[in-house]
Amino acid sequence: MKFRVDEISGEGREETFIQDENWMEERLAGETKRPFHFTGPIKTHLNLSRSGRVILLRSRIEVRVEWICARCLEPFLRTLTSEFTTSLKPKPDFPLPEEIELSPEDLETEYYQGGEINVAPLVQDQILLTLPPKAICGEECRGLCPKCGKNLNRENCHCSEEVVDPRLEPLKSFRV
Ligand SMILES: [Zn+2]
Ligand SMILES: [Zn+2]
Repeated sequence: MKFRVDEISGEGREETFIQDENWMEERLAGETKRPFHFTGPIKTHLNLSRSGRVILLRSRIEVRVEWICARCLEPFLRTLTSEFTTSLKPKPDFPLPEEIELSPEDLETEYYQGGEINVAPLVQDQILLTLPPKAICGEECRGLCPKCGKNLNRENCHCSEEVVDPRLEPLKSFRV
């Protein structure tokens, strides 16, 4: 996903990339505790156009992810799409004054060096931003019983209906 700046015109160019799931898995290597993994090809559609030395990058990403549901702990599949726009400018020779770097307009600005832009890390960052830290298989997911651990989507348990042994009843009032 590298492009020479002078090969990008004002009218723009369209590029489509299909990466396999290892492309993201490698990026995430070391993060073993995450509740998801990528399961299918990662599709990226790019539109690049140039105005002077400033590149405007529009991207549309589609990924297929297998999650572990945060409520019932069962795996489920989901396709996520994301769109973003970034402008890329030549890296200035000197650090910019702080007030310029913090202006809202510049928040989605990236810098390139040496007349070449590498879009891959930007796309990977965007994919990670699209993934929520937790996901559930569906709004209706009933989760696991906190007492017996049964998956309440599949079966019912009787934990909440348990009858208290009458001999233990007086003890209840001692509990704070
Ligand atoms: Zn669930
Ligand atoms: Zn139960």
